[in-house]
Amino acid sequence: MALKDSYLPAHGNAGYRVAHYDLDLDYKPIAARLSGRARLTVVAGVALTGLVLDLGTFKVDRVLVEGRPVRFTHGGGKLRVRAARPIAAGTRFTVEVRYVGTPRPIRTRAWGDLGWDQLADGAIVASQPIGAPSWFPCNDTVREKATYRITVTAPSPYTVVANGVLVDGKVGGSTTTWVYEQDVPMATYLATVQIGQYEELELTDGQPAAVPSRLVAKFAHDFGRQPAMVELFERLFGPYPFGQYSVVVTDDDLEVPIEAQGVSVFGANHVDGKRGFERLVAHELAHQWFGNSVGLADWRDIWLNEGFAAYAEWLWSEESGGATASAIATRTRVALLRQGQNIRIGDPGVDDMFDDRVYKRGALTLHTLRTVLGDAAFFSALREWTHTYRHRTATTDQFIAVAQRHTARPLAAFFQSWLYTGKLP
Ligand SMILES: [Zn+2]
Repeated sequence: MALKDSYLPAHGNAGYRVAHYDLDLDYKPIAARLSGRARLTVVAGVALTGLVLDLGTFKVDRVLVEGRPVRFTHGGGKLRVRAARPIAAGTRFTVEVRYVGTPRPIRTRAWGDLGWDQLADGAIVASQPIGAPSWFPCNDTVREKATYRITVTAPSPYTVVANGVLVDGKVGGSTTTWVYEQDVPMATYLATVQIGQYEELELTDGQPAAVPSRLVAKFAHDFGRQPAMVELFERLFGPYPFGQYSVVVTDDDLEVPIEAQGVSVFGANHVDGKRGFERLVAHELAHQWFGNSVGLADWRDIWLNEGFAAYAEWLWSEESGGATASAIATRTRVALLRQGQNIRIGDPGVDDMFDDRVYKRGALTLHTLRTVLGDAAFFSALREWTHTYRHRTATTDQFIAVAQRHTARPLAAFFQSWLYTGKLP
C-alpha cells in the first residue's frame, strides 16, 4: 500500500488504508476548544499488530479497536496504536480515537501554519498540503481517498459548513449540530470545517453560500457569474464532479482563497463589490475538477492542480469578454521570461510546490498544448482526463498519455521541454 510521498514523506503511513472517516466534533469558538471522536473504518493491507495515524497536538483520552480500548502512544505528530490481537491482511476494522484540546495548526517551514485556524470569531480549516492532522487523526497522504461523515456541534449563532451534503441537523438549547456526508472519496487535505456567524444564501443556480451579513450585497455582485462559470466548465471539462458546491466568505481577511472538496473559502478581502477577484472565483471552482476529483498521486505533480486551475482563469476571462487566453498567454510569457528560468514545473521541489511559476507556466503549457492539438482535440482530452480519473488520483505521465491519444504528433519532447526543463521553450 501507500508508498511514501516523494515530497512529504513524514505524513502518511503504510500497511493499511482508511475507507471512511466518521468525525464527531464539538467546538467552542470562544474557548477555542475542540473535543472529537473520530471513528475510522480501516482496511489492513498487510498483517498488522497495530497502526500509526497522523495526529497533531491533542490530549488523546482513549483509543478503541473494534470497540475495545487498546494501548497507544502519541507524540511527534504520530499516534501509534497497538491492536489487542493480530489483524489479518484484508480485514476491515474500526479504530476510534477520542481526543480534546485547542487545535494547533501544523507548522511548516515553507508554507507557514496549516490546518485548523482560529478566526476572530469562528474557525477555518486550510490544510493544503499537510494540515489535516491539526483537527483529526488520519492517514495523511494525498494518494488515498476516503468517504466522510462530519458532525459538528457549535453554539447556535454559528453556521457550520463542511464537505458534502447537509443530511441532518439538530438545534439544542444553546448549540446546534450539523451533519454532513461526503459520499464520494476525498483526500485528507481537502476535508474542511468552516465555522462563523454567517448569513446563508443561495446563488441563482441554487448553490449555497455562507457570507458575513456586512458583505452580502457585494458578494451577490462578485459571485453573480459563478453559475455561468459552472456552465462553461461543464461544457469544457465535463460534468461537475460533486453533488454540491458551497462558497464561504470569512469575516477575516485571508492571504489566498482555499479549495476544499465541494467547498471554496474566500477572505473578506476577496469581496470588493467590483469583481476584482473574479479570476480567483474561477480558479477555486476549477479545482473541483482538477485537484479534488482528479487528485494527485504525489505532490510532485502539483502542476496538474495549479496549472489547470490557473488556465481555467484564462478560459473564463475569454468567455466573459475579458482578455482572450492567447492575449494572456503572450503577457504571461513575457512575465515568465523576466523571472528565473530554473524551475522544472513537473518536479519543482517541495519548497517551490506553490511557486507562482508552477501556476503560470503550467497554464501556458496547457495553452500551448491547445494550439498544438486544436480546440476540439484539446478539450476532448481534458474531458477524457476528468472522466477517466474522476474521484481517483493520477500522475503527469497519465496526463501525457491522455493528451497523446488526441494527436498523431509525438508529444514526448513537448512535455519534456515544458515540464522538465528550466528554460522556457
Ligand atoms: Zn489553486
